[in-house]
Amino acid sequence: MIEKIRISTRTRTELVDITDEVKKIIEKYKIKQGVVHVFCPHTTAGITINENYDPSVKEDITKTLEKLVPYRGNYSHTEGNADAHIKAAIVGSSRTLFIEDGKLAFGTWQGIFFCEFDGPRTREIWVRILEIRS
Ligand code: ZN
Repeated sequence: MIEKIRISTRTRTELVDITDEVKKIIEKYKIKQGVVHVFCPHTTAGITINENYDPSVKEDITKTLEKLVPYRGNYSHTEGNADAHIKAAIVGSSRTLFIEDGKLAFGTWQGIFFCEFDGPRTREIWVRILEIRS
């Protein structure tokens, strides 16, 4: 079954740490080994993994993406959110991680981030757990 995380973003561009929500879903399934797939079903948002210890890292990521792909530009898509589509394409819409001994197998400083590029909006993240028996 697809588990859904619902979040409301507060600004146009924002990285939201969803690591704890994903961990809660993993704990609910009580499996020893597997993979967790985290998917964003939106075209102007994405999922990434990066440092969640120092908040300046996510600030640098959003600032640099804004420099690379400015809000206002000479885009063909006339909806006014062309930059958000491009940023979402750069970041990607999903990540797959390992579950070992019932826990997220993760780097010490890593976190899972939902990346909002056209907020504020109410968003969903779809999470699927797959058990591996070996
Ligand atoms: Zn659009």
